[in-house]
Amino acid sequence: MKDVDSINVLKYEAVIGLEVHAQMLTDTKIFCGCSTKFGSEPNTQTCPVCLGMPGVLPVLNKKTLEFTIKTGLATNCKISSFSRFARKNYFYPDLPKGYQISQYELPICEYGYVEIVVNGETKKIGITRIHMEEDAGKNIHESASGGGGNYSFVDLNRAGVPLMEIVSEPDIRSPEEAVEYMKKLRTILRYLGVCDGNMEQGSLRCDANVSVRLAGQKEFGVKTEVKNLNSFKFVGKAIEYEIRRQIKVLEDGGKVIQETRLWDSERGITESMRTKEEAHDYRYFPEPDLVPIVVDQRWLDERRASLPELPDIKRKRFVSEYGLPEYDADLLTSEKSTAEFFEEAVKQGAHPKNTSNWIMIEGFKYEKEHGIAIHETPLKPIHLVSLSKLVETAVVSGTMAKSIIFEVMDTGKPPEEIVKEKGFIQISDTSEIEKAVDDVIAKHPKEFERFRAGEEKLIGFFVGQVMKMTKGKANPQMVNDLLKKKLF
Ligand SMILES: [Zn+2]
Repeated sequence: MKDVDSINVLKYEAVIGLEVHAQMLTDTKIFCGCSTKFGSEPNTQTCPVCLGMPGVLPVLNKKTLEFTIKTGLATNCKISSFSRFARKNYFYPDLPKGYQISQYELPICEYGYVEIVVNGETKKIGITRIHMEEDAGKNIHESASGGGGNYSFVDLNRAGVPLMEIVSEPDIRSPEEAVEYMKKLRTILRYLGVCDGNMEQGSLRCDANVSVRLAGQKEFGVKTEVKNLNSFKFVGKAIEYEIRRQIKVLEDGGKVIQETRLWDSERGITESMRTKEEAHDYRYFPEPDLVPIVVDQRWLDERRASLPELPDIKRKRFVSEYGLPEYDADLLTSEKSTAEFFEEAVKQGAHPKNTSNWIMIEGFKYEKEHGIAIHETPLKPIHLVSLSKLVETAVVSGTMAKSIIFEVMDTGKPPEEIVKEKGFIQISDTSEIEKAVDDVIAKHPKEFERFRAGEEKLIGFFVGQVMKMTKGKANPQMVNDLLKKKLF
């Protein structure tokens, strides 16, 4: 598909809708008491209900209803006072009952939206519905897993694990918007504590409905569905590939076929899985073994009152209350635990912007290298308070503060102690700095002449040389001031 790049992609507009499956963080399954723990021995977390034995009766896990409703409230949905479950019939070895219990014509949440920010612009993505359903089991093919045999196995530990399906409106217009939408949902789900958002383990995954149309055209093009995308990267790449593939089909005079496609992450392409003719006819009908769900208004009000401060509100508050740039506020609030850690440090007296930088730069770097977040290291909010004071009183420079913070994350030693041990005391003695400045000027007479002649940007060079000579200990502001004095 190399020649796709040459096509005038700008003539087209993509229309994308996502169906996100989020596994709920309950201890037990949706219709029985079996554990939902990930990674156990196959078929050790099953019972007659989730094995689909004849004569058993499902009972709704109330927690799943509560989690779904909380998600609906947090995404501005209308919560249905009356909803019910439905049977979705299809035959597959990982589905012992021959049907999946889901919701169909009367879902629990409808008509919501979330806000995303792409290229500095805020956009609302509509949510059509959120419903509850049970997960299916898992087929393990011996040949695919390298066993070389002809057998397939079925692990039913996952059968009956509670899922929320969050269906968006076709409001998304680019792969970037799709990724931002997915990230926003993940953040909200994690804030609510209803899903761990672990995409590697499959607890958050999505199917993307993708179509293209000529820019300005009102009617939708024919859509395809790309199944089972389980990372932000794959969501972006698979959608981008699919948009270009469809444009190429149209530009070559062909027609896009309505079909289900699979993303092959190794080859970076989508491949046809089944066409519309082969599509399932699910023959939905109301689930007779479960009573309809009637949501009591008082219970709903209590759930609403128990919602935590949500990421969008927290982000706006961080800007107004702490004077942080939007960018900082957005990053800090993308994880609730990070936001709480920041706020705890600032409440105890740490400098907001410095703290934000330390978390976003040094903290995130540390997390990338060691796999643990700043608040999981021995570094406590109070350490950031001490560090703020050391910087504000010019005892240490910003550069020194950075190396101190790494050491605190490693050892948990108070910053003052590290300063003493390492001799990390900033030089603020004028005569000592002046001597260093004079030495540097003497070593670089040509540069100094150019500096004097008006080449102002050379000040950076001189400051750098002085810092080098003093091993980073000189107070940079004083170095700057002294250099300017030397001009006259
Ligand atoms: Zn069970």
